Amino acid sequence: MKKQSDFSSLPDYHIHTILCKHAKGKIADYRTAAKKNGITEICFSDHCPNPDGYDPDHRMEMKKFETYRDMVSRLQDGKPPTVLFGIEADYYEGCEVFLREWLAAQQFDFVLGSIHYIEDWGFDNPSQRHVWDSVDVKETWRKYFKLVGMLADSRLFDAVGHLDLPKKFGFRPSDTDLKGMARPALDRIAGADMGVELNTSGLRRPVGEIYPSPLIVSMAREREIPICFGSDAHAPDEIGAGFGLALNLAREAGYTQYFRIRGRTKELVALPETLSV
Ligand SMILES: [Zn+2]
Ligand SMILES: [Zn+2]
Repeated sequence: MKKQSDFSSLPDYHIHTILCKHAKGKIADYRTAAKKNGITEICFSDHCPNPDGYDPDHRMEMKKFETYRDMVSRLQDGKPPTVLFGIEADYYEGCEVFLREWLAAQQFDFVLGSIHYIEDWGFDNPSQRHVWDSVDVKETWRKYFKLVGMLADSRLFDAVGHLDLPKKFGFRPSDTDLKGMARPALDRIAGADMGVELNTSGLRRPVGEIYPSPLIVSMAREREIPICFGSDAHAPDEIGAGFGLALNLAREAGYTQYFRIRGRTKELVALPETLSV
């Protein structure tokens, strides 16, 4: 399905709120910031609550979920920018038991699937960065991509968030090793009809690079995996940050389209030539 773009900006599909305990600003300010930046569609995708006691410090509590729904729906007043209702849900072994039923019951527009943990190690958490000094980097990435493959096979998510997050502090395998590990994971993402998010928060991290890298974006393009864009904003002024560079990354990999989503159904639209923001 193809449609001409009606945007001179790109939608931002990865935005947090204060409910996850590590973002700041009022939810209305995120939308105001989007409007100021000329962004015509945004999706809140805050960290999913989890009843298993999984990583409780970095996500909303289950009892706050209805507050989240109300906060987002109050912004859905028909005025621009359009506001979508999404969630960033962690994949980990065993998550399916809760997520399969719960996600289906919430009427989300968008479910982003992310991996922030390998076993009990929060590998992207600055307070656990030191662990990288004592692990085998290549083996760590191998474990990570194994989880990505499982995430795809679960069929629970619409897109993978920040696909090469383990590079955050600069620990990365060789391109040859990376290709070998990413290939089967991307095949499974393509097989699951999932998308991949170009996440600009990496530009604000030690690695100084969008997630995923140009190599992985090219491999995704070869498999015709659709892409979307996310700032991973944890503050209003981060909305749409780095999207000009993300557009260049997509174009250089050969992409001419990206996806928009409503009620978890994707629609491909043409990438803008340039960004007005
Ligand atoms: Zn994340
Ligand atoms: Zn996030």
